[in-house]
Amino acid sequence: MRRKTKLIHGGIVGDPATGAVSVPIYQVSTYKQDGVGNHKGFEYSRTGNPTRHALEELIKDLEGGKAGFAFGSGMAAITAVIMMFDSGDHVILTDDVYGGTYRVITKVLNRFGIEATFVDSSDLKNIKEAIKSNTKAVYIETPTNPLLKITDIEAAANLAKENGLLTIVDNTFSTPYWQTPIELGADIVLHSATKYLGGHSDVVAGLVVVNSDQLAEDLHFVQNSTGGVLGPQDSWLLMRGIKTLGIRMEETERNTKAIVEFLLGHPAVRNVYYPGIETHPNHDIAKKQAQGFGGMVSFDVGSEKNADQLLEGVKYFTLAESLGAVESLISVPARMTHASIPKERRDELGITDGLVRISVGLEDAEDLIEDLKQALDN
Ligand SMILES: *Cc1c(COP(=O)(O)O)cnc(C)c1O
Repeated sequence: MRRKTKLIHGGIVGDPATGAVSVPIYQVSTYKQDGVGNHKGFEYSRTGNPTRHALEELIKDLEGGKAGFAFGSGMAAITAVIMMFDSGDHVILTDDVYGGTYRVITKVLNRFGIEATFVDSSDLKNIKEAIKSNTKAVYIETPTNPLLKITDIEAAANLAKENGLLTIVDNTFSTPYWQTPIELGADIVLHSATKYLGGHSDVVAGLVVVNSDQLAEDLHFVQNSTGGVLGPQDSWLLMRGIKTLGIRMEETERNTKAIVEFLLGHPAVRNVYYPGIETHPNHDIAKKQAQGFGGMVSFDVGSEKNADQLLEGVKYFTLAESLGAVESLISVPARMTHASIPKERRDELGITDGLVRISVGLEDAEDLIEDLKQALDN
């Protein structure tokens, strides 16, 4: 099955009992047992729900893993994955991970004895040097947010394997339509499905896919024990969104290319960060491991004041956190998504006050470019 077909025919399709073409929303908490322990595969919806199960089967197929899991948010998914480790275990993470990931690791999970080191994983040497005797996993985000840095997934997974570590990849920015980390050697792939997978700014959700039966058992144990599951309504909405992921990602790619070209030629723009640009330091790796470069672009307009002027000037780019939806969004990471990262650390990472991030939507590219142009010209 090719990618676009899999989005529609992967996982569980429709409902055999009624012939419904769309998986029904099983708005139910518990299930009748014909005798103690004698049930039809579902006992209680925290443990398993048919609508959520259909979504979990779908993401499993899309990522090419052994089992899928749906959570109430990306952060719930990330937290559950890290909860598979023990107190005293050490994890190496990409340094410009999503701000919420940095926060949960350094302010919450640290209290339970999970140790972490943040490194620029786009240079493998940094991962290698951070490995300690208690290291259990390498956690990569690629491309990163907001500087669009790229880590070589295959090389990182090989390095992890040689050292007996798991490789975890946050695949939110690329989605399985462009990038399938398990095929490159990763053990666990996770998503904020709130972004491209849902795609319509109407659902908050997280997904995880694992590549072994043991990891599937361990993660189901955590999911069922801690209970951060996705409800049936939201599971259905996500499946609905995923059906059009292919055409949305293709169109996003086209719009983004046009906008990047425009930004590169505008005098008010200093730096443009996008893995699709040939001068991007890891352009070759991005090209090798993903079939598309995505719809996230960051660029520097020099100062907080210039950034504010741009935000005020645009009319089709909505000022909002989040990304990956049909509507184009604009944000200033330093004061929004990455505000939970201390200023000194932001400066270290290059997340300057003049850095602007856009998530390119599905409007007409010419309208988007005209909109940016009139705001930047001022
Ligand atoms: C948004 C995001 C998350 C967190 O997901 P939520 O659904 O907001 O909890 C994690 N990783 C990345 C890359 C994200 O963009």
